[in-house]
Amino acid sequence: HSAPGTALRVWAEVDLAALRANVAALRARIGGAALMAVVKADGYGHGALACARAARAAGASWIGTATPQEALDLRAAGVDGRMLCWLWTPGGPWREAIEADVDVSVSGMWALREATAAARAAGRPARIQLKSDTGLGRNGCQPADWPELVAAARAAEAAGLAKVTGIWSHFACADEPGHPSIAAQLSVFHEALEAARAAGLEPEVRHIANSPATLTLPETHLDLVRTGIAMYGVSPVPQVGAPADFGLRPVMTLRARLAQVKRVPGDHGVSYGHLYTTPGETTLALVPAGYADGIPRHASNTGPVLVAGKWRTVAGRVAMDQFVVDLGGDSAQVGDPAVLFGPGDQGEPTVEDWARACGTIAYEIVTRIGARVPRVHL
Ligand code: PLP
Repeated sequence: HSAPGTALRVWAEVDLAALRANVAALRARIGGAALMAVVKADGYGHGALACARAARAAGASWIGTATPQEALDLRAAGVDGRMLCWLWTPGGPWREAIEADVDVSVSGMWALREATAAARAAGRPARIQLKSDTGLGRNGCQPADWPELVAAARAAEAAGLAKVTGIWSHFACADEPGHPSIAAQLSVFHEALEAARAAGLEPEVRHIANSPATLTLPETHLDLVRTGIAMYGVSPVPQVGAPADFGLRPVMTLRARLAQVKRVPGDHGVSYGHLYTTPGETTLALVPAGYADGIPRHASNTGPVLVAGKWRTVAGRVAMDQFVVDLGGDSAQVGDPAVLFGPGDQGEPTVEDWARACGTIAYEIVTRIGARVPRVHL
């Protein structure tokens, strides 16, 4: 790729052709199941609107967001078709969601009450998806409370205030193949589905699979899979395989231009706290990206970056807006490219390399790329 916008300091290229190819690759794995493109958190940092449109073009029949506002923003920007948002708090924009034809997740009685009250006000039923906590211990209705929720949802349907479009859940350990909780959660989910069926609910979609389950647990695909990270070409199971092993192409490349290159003597401290000291006379290059841009401070003295044809390591602390690399005996010019991460096919580190260097997961690296970093959609 040629670098667009020569004036850019640091920028994230977002390869929408790769995203479309990833959606196609994922769809090829799931037989007749539907694919929900998860674009919460600004499309995991890639730009929610562009990614939602690209995913739709590649055949994602559903769009998924965490917050209702994320879904409403996409609707306002003209994204149509099926959409689900799942992270509700009391007093949320239920009526707006109903009027925008967004499916709403309901995890308990308070949420059902708010959804049906909004449906009454809107004069049309809420499309609700009941969320069962099958063992994640996070959002969702506990098995003990499930019969009450299911019965109340059925009554809301009978009163014309709701249509139960889906029943769903979420895995705790799908990224750890063979973890015993996977089978246990699936079994609780099937019990929840059976209880819902017995109560007279006929949901269109039953779903539990996220990216790792989509890639490694075909028995979990059911009617629909909710894929986030895999769609962005990042492996959710780096211990099992790299993106290419799953037919996925990394979507984001984080690039910068060197802001300064200079010779310094040996024993010269570098950046705050002098956590790095030059081992001898050397050339330092300044990469104008820092923790305000989403470069983790945990990358201090560990983060990899391709400069002047080789992997370099962040020298000293990552500051708010910049960090330094030691080029040793090599040279570079101000304005030369630095690639923090990308697909890896041009010798650059990958986002999985950054995650490993920083003791985190690739999800966190891409999602936290800062708001002031332009996204350049290719
Ligand atoms: N479903 C829910 C409820 C989620 O919270 C998420 C994201 O964490 C996903 C699906 C997508 O997960 P992944 O990015 O692993 O595909």
